[in-house]
Amino acid sequence: MPIYEFICSDCNKIFDKLCSLKDDLSKVRCEYCESQNIRKKMSAFATSGNHDGNDHESHSGSSCSSCSSGSCSSCGH
Ligand SMILES: [Zn+2]
Repeated sequence: MPIYEFICSDCNKIFDKLCSLKDDLSKVRCEYCESQNIRKKMSAFATSGNHDGNDHESHSGSSCSSCSSGSCSSCGH
């Protein structure tokens, strides 16, 4: 079974979750604060062609206007 790594947008904690393929990843909550405002960082099994789970770009917090990256350290935003 793949292990997914999530990062919580609310408390910025990172946690791993072992998910079966039939698990609904959109229902995963943060282990620390129970928030559903989490992002999947990576998976051991790269599902090619099916890019889901990251469909709502959040405007929260640290998005960079110059490079449109959420975690930008190169341009000072
Ligand atoms: Zn959290």
